[in-house]
Amino acid sequence: MNIFEKIVNREIPAVIVYEDEHTLAFMDIGPIIKGHTLVIPKVCYDPVTETPDEVLAGLIRICKRIAAAQIRGLGADGVNIIQNNGAAAGQEVPHLHFHVIPRFEGDGHRWNWAAKKYDNPAEMEKLAEKIRQGLNG
Ligand code: 5GP
Repeated sequence: MNIFEKIVNREIPAVIVYEDEHTLAFMDIGPIIKGHTLVIPKVCYDPVTETPDEVLAGLIRICKRIAAAQIRGLGADGVNIIQNNGAAAGQEVPHLHFHVIPRFEGDGHRWNWAAKKYDNPAEMEKLAEKIRQGLNG
């Protein structure tokens, strides 16, 4: 059983901000910015590509509500919604989760968003074509 399933089952504590039949939202123990909230399905799905569409639809609705609550309740100026899949993408807990992170003007956090360049337009087109082909898989 993963750590988030233990939280769902109340085997380990968490500070819960929202719960319904299918979804739990609770405070991340290691916030990027204080107020950082995790939104998870109660049933473990992982990764996003193996998660039923209706589960994802339900989760993103709750992410929207949590984001709005961070703006209203915390006075956030913006919100990041992030979802990691796989160790290569920085995922640590193998249970689908969305990070909903309140952002404040001047909060000092900077993503390491180091934009790169394609070697040439053909390289971008070649990769786009592989993705298009992947859509048919
Ligand atoms: P990931 O890197 O998998 O996308 O994110 C996992 C998140 O879960 C991290 O932000 C981490 O701080 C959080 N986390 C890990 N263990 C616990 C825990 O026991 N309780 C809570 N509330 N958050 C946790």
